[in-house]
Amino acid sequence: MTFVEIVVLAGGVGGARFLTGLRAVTPPSSVTAVVNTGDDVTLHGLRICPDLDTVVYTLSGAIDPERGWGRAGETWTVKEELAAYGAEPTWFGLGDRDLATHLVRTRMLDAGYPLSDVTAALADRWQPGVTVLPMSDQRVETHVVVDDPDDGRRTAIHFQEWWVRHRAAPEPHAFVQVGAEQARPAPGVAEALARADAVVLAPSNPVVSIGTILGVPGLRDALRATPGRVVGVSPVVGGGVVRGMADRCLPVLGVEVSAEGVGRHYGARSDGGLLDAWLVHTGDPAQVPGVDVRAVPLLMSSPEATAAMARAALDAAGVGLDD
Ligand code: GDP
Ligand code: CA
Repeated sequence: MTFVEIVVLAGGVGGARFLTGLRAVTPPSSVTAVVNTGDDVTLHGLRICPDLDTVVYTLSGAIDPERGWGRAGETWTVKEELAAYGAEPTWFGLGDRDLATHLVRTRMLDAGYPLSDVTAALADRWQPGVTVLPMSDQRVETHVVVDDPDDGRRTAIHFQEWWVRHRAAPEPHAFVQVGAEQARPAPGVAEALARADAVVLAPSNPVVSIGTILGVPGLRDALRATPGRVVGVSPVVGGGVVRGMADRCLPVLGVEVSAEGVGRHYGARSDGGLLDAWLVHTGDPAQVPGVDVRAVPLLMSSPEATAAMARAALDAAGVGLDD
């Protein structure tokens, strides 16, 4: 089998599921996932990295498949006990099993290890089968500018508060990456992009997952300079998102919630954008000037369907895999 190096930019659920398909069709250890950390948050003194955990738990089979986040077979004793103390916030789901991950991570971060080292240490247990890198070791947190539900004043709240606590109800006026100016790509990210045979933008939220990763200074340029082809996979299918809140995020940037809208937002690499190829769901109309647009089934409804999607992405990248 030809050895290939593939880099995937990924958020949580959509990115994680796509990575399972890619892992199924590629040689071992040929995939590097660069994962969004803009959703990270500190709660009850613990550092929580939802997208990194979703990726690692999903790839190792430890994820709760219905919820799409957290551990299967989870119990909630600590969460209930915290609520009994009135310890805020009570709206964030912290499972007992999951808490061990946050405890280990926080302890290592407090001891001075960078997040990329912590992520590698956690992956030692879970063996995700792909290299998992945070987009950055520096803290970058997505905040959402909204009108305060109580007094109507314009204010910025953490992405998790907007999404989990308020269920994305307050109208978002802007998404802000707090800390982005000081951030750099994590060790290994630019290196992986510089030698990749193909880069895939996973079917992840284009604004608060992929957009946040691309907002790390230097990362977008490293992607544009990658020697391989760059293929995007649309998270919008049939004019709507499969799950999540991208339909609340895209209009804030003036992007139409359609496969074509997102494809044009990413833009052609030949024209200052990112894409060489763009995968849209069968039947979704999309024209993106300068980009090879291909229509294939894009619903990750089974391991086979997900693997077929990954194959289509590699195909569009011109990466030959003999099986
Ligand atoms: P999050 O961090 O958990 O929100 O996860 P991501 O940003 O990685 O992914 C969210 C995106 O995944 C949403 O915009 C969904 O539309 C997309 N998504 C989820 N399942 C599927 C699927 O089966 N097919 C496609 N094409 N997109 C999906
Ligand atoms: Ca996320």
